Amino acid sequence: MLILKQIIDYDCDVLIAGGGPSGSALAFHLAKMGAKVIVVEAEKFPRDKVCGDGVSPIALAELDRMGITQTKNFAKANEIKKVGLFLKNDQVYINLSKPEHLKYHARIIPRIELDDMIYGAAKKQGAIYMESSRVLNYSISPTAAWVTIKTGAGPTTIKSRLIVGADGSRSTIARQLRGVKPADDYQLLGLRAYYNNVNGPTDRVDIYFSEAGFPGIFWMFPKGKNDANVGMALISKTFPKKPDHIKNLLQDHIANHSEIQNRIGNGTLEAKMEGWPITFFNTSQKLCGNRVLLVGEAAGLINPLSGDGIQYALLSSGWAAEAIGKCLGENDFSESHLNSYVKRVHKEVGFDFALSNLLVQFPKNKTLTKVWMQILNILIARAKRDKAYADIIAGIFEGTYPSYKALTIPFIFKSIKQGGVEVANALMESLKNPEGIIDDSAEAVNSLFKIVEEVKADPVQQLKWAGNTLSKTAAVAGHVVSRIDLAKLRGR
Ligand SMILES: Cc1cc2nc3c(=O)[nH]c(=O)nc-3n(C[C@H](O)[C@H](O)[C@H](O)COP(=O)(O)OP(=O)(O)OC[C@H]3O[C@@H](n4cnc5c(N)ncnc54)[C@H](O)[C@@H]3O)c2cc1C
Repeated sequence: MLILKQIIDYDCDVLIAGGGPSGSALAFHLAKMGAKVIVVEAEKFPRDKVCGDGVSPIALAELDRMGITQTKNFAKANEIKKVGLFLKNDQVYINLSKPEHLKYHARIIPRIELDDMIYGAAKKQGAIYMESSRVLNYSISPTAAWVTIKTGAGPTTIKSRLIVGADGSRSTIARQLRGVKPADDYQLLGLRAYYNNVNGPTDRVDIYFSEAGFPGIFWMFPKGKNDANVGMALISKTFPKKPDHIKNLLQDHIANHSEIQNRIGNGTLEAKMEGWPITFFNTSQKLCGNRVLLVGEAAGLINPLSGDGIQYALLSSGWAAEAIGKCLGENDFSESHLNSYVKRVHKEVGFDFALSNLLVQFPKNKTLTKVWMQILNILIARAKRDKAYADIIAGIFEGTYPSYKALTIPFIFKSIKQGGVEVANALMESLKNPEGIIDDSAEAVNSLFKIVEEVKADPVQQLKWAGNTLSKTAAVAGHVVSRIDLAKLRGR
C-alpha cells in the first residue's frame, strides 16, 4: 500500500498505547504496510498478564496470518481437544470438534510467552517499542495527536497522526475519549492462580459451575504436562446480595470440589493468586474520535459469556489496520473516516455481544440462581447424549461459535424437550419415593417464597434490573430485525 508522506513533521504515523495482543498485532500489520509505528508499553517484555491463557482456534488463525505459528516457541504450546463441564455431582466431557475452516485446536499459552511472540513479530516488521513507559494523556489539534508519556528519563511528548488505545481493561485512552471509567455493570472480576505438579489429562480444560460461586465460573486449564492455570471469573455487580469475595470463592472451590482436588493432587501454588478486571462491550460507548481509536479490551471487545478476549484483540487489530491504512493513504483521520472501523466491529460482533450481554444480565439477579442451576442441569443432560448440541455449547465457550447459535429453533426445541425429560424423570423418582415428594414440594414452595420476599425487599433494584434487561433485549431484537432479509419476506 502507498502511504503519502506529509510536509508536516510527525514523530510517527501511529502511536499505540499498550503492547498486549491488540497493540502488538496492530503494530505488526501497520509496520508491514510501511507505516512508522511507535508502541508505548508500561511494562518490559517478556511480561505477565493475568489471564486464563486459553487461545481459541480463531485467535490461532490470526497468529498464523502473522507467521507466529511457524515458530519453535509456538510448537511447544499445549493443545486442547476436550472440555469437561461440571455442575454439582454431574458432568459431561465433550470432544471439541474444530470447525473445518480453522487449522488449529485451541492452545493454552501462558501470556508471558504469547505476548512476547506477538511483540517479537511486530518488532521484526519494524515497529518501535518504548518499554517501561506510560501514556499519561493526549490532546488533539486539527493536524496532530499530541501524546504525553512518562518515561524513565522523565516526561516527553510525541506528535503522531493518530493515537490508538490498546491499553486494556483500565484503558487511559478510553477513559479520556469517553469521559468516564467503565461502569460496574460492564465488568467481570478475574482471578488466576498457577499450580505446579498437577494431575490429569493435558488436553482437557475443565469448567465448573456451582450455586455458591454463581454468577461466576471456575476453570482448570492445563499449561502442559505438569502445570495448570486455575481461576475464576465473576460478575462484579449482582443483587440482592453482593458476591462473596472472589478469592474466598476460588479457595473454597479448590478445597471442596472433588474433581478439581483430583486434578490438583499434590500440586502446589506457584505464586500468589492475582486478580484483574475484565471490561466488556457497551454498545452505547465511543470507539473512536478525531485522530483517536480503541482496539482490544480498551474497546471492551470481550465475550462476557466466555471471558474470551484474545481473539477479539487480534481480530479488532486486523480490522483497525485496514481502516487506518485507508486513513493514512488519504491523510484523513477524522472521526467520520475512522468510523468505518466502528461499523466493522458492530457488523462482526455486535449481535453476538448484545446477546451475550443479555444472557449475563439474568444471573446478575441472584434471586434466580436456582433457576439457572436448573437450566445448566438441562444443558449438561442434553449435551451428554447429543453431539451436535454439545458442539454448540462447547463452541460458545471456546469462542468458535457466536452465542446466537443457541438462538436457533432446533437448539431451543431440544433444550425445552430436555427440560420436559428432566421434569418427567423427577416425577418418576417421586413415584418411586413418595416421601420425597413432600421434601421436594416444600423446597419448591420455599424457593418461590424466597423469590417473592427478595422482590418485596428491594423493588427498586428489581425494577432497575428489569429495565436493564428490557433495554438489552431490545438491543438483541434490533440485531435480529436487521438480519431479517426484508426483500425475501416481501417476495413471499
Ligand atoms: C482472569 C482473566 C482470565 C482471562 N482468560 C482469558 C482466556 O483464557 N482467553 C482469552 O481469550 N481471554 C482471556 N481473558 C481476557 C484477555 O486477557 C484480554 O482480552 C486480553 O488481554 C486483551 O488484550 P489487549 O491487548 O487488548 O489488552 P492487554 O492484554 O490488557 O494489554 C494492554 C497492555 O497495555 C499496557 N498499558 C496499560 N496502560 C498503559 C498506559 N497508560 N501506557 C502504556 N501501556 C499501558 C499494559 O501493560 C498491557 O501490556 C482473561 C482475562 C482475565 C482478567
